[in-house]
Amino acid sequence: MSSLLEVSGVSKTFDGFRAINDLSIQINEPELRAIIGPNGAGKTTFMDIVTGKTKPDVGRVVWGERNESLLGLSEAEIANKGIGRKFQKPTVFEDQTVRQNLAMALKNPRGPFAVLFHRKTEEGAARIEEIAAEIGLSDQLTRTAGELSHGQKQWLEIGMLLAQDPRLLLVDEPAAGMTAEEREKTTDILRRAAQTRAVVVVEHDMEFVRRLDCKVTVLHEGHVLAEGSLDHVTADPMVIDVYLGR
Ligand code: ADP
Repeated sequence: MSSLLEVSGVSKTFDGFRAINDLSIQINEPELRAIIGPNGAGKTTFMDIVTGKTKPDVGRVVWGERNESLLGLSEAEIANKGIGRKFQKPTVFEDQTVRQNLAMALKNPRGPFAVLFHRKTEEGAARIEEIAAEIGLSDQLTRTAGELSHGQKQWLEIGMLLAQDPRLLLVDEPAAGMTAEEREKTTDILRRAAQTRAVVVVEHDMEFVRRLDCKVTVLHEGHVLAEGSLDHVTADPMVIDVYLGR
């Protein structure tokens, strides 16, 4: 396990409002991490900064073993480093089959040398089977994405991101709108994905975070309020005060 992403001393002000305030977070590889915090805590802005959508006013965002700064890179360049992001709403191709969706994601590998790694058809087919198994959709490969349940679409999108071999996957509220059974499967998928890469999950649902059973970072007013196991952070009086003490 080594440091993959290091955000340090980052601040971001929008119209005089400090959304991120001297934020420092380190993510290892591999690792599963949950980021929680009340509305407006800065979770989305954190992801926007990591993916290059938002530029911080000050601070460092450093990537990989060569300690490369991500600041100054475009969103596409950052994605090419191996950072994938899953938004809440799944964006799969509804009229294409699950297999076609995964094939499309495989055929568009990231990186400047992507074309050199263009997968052979047999190799691609085997990888699709592998990913389908990882996301629990092996028996759904011939169905169109439009026929899938909300949960299955979310898993398919996770699979499409996995097809890009990200080193870091940022996932925004994966459990939103899911049934209890789907939530459980989602934890399995994310835990499995995080065995070989870094997966950062932003989540509101505490039961879901408990099932993820990973290190938790609590954000509040753009700053890390507490970090550690869920039991550790939820026993912290400051966390109880700002987040749980309703
Ligand atoms: P969270 O995802 O934890 O709910 P956000 O990162 O979305 O928090 O927001 C943190 C704060 O920054 C909020 O008060 C939000 O209104 C503000 N904010 C975020 N993005 C912008 C923006 N582009 N312009 C103005 N204010 C913003």
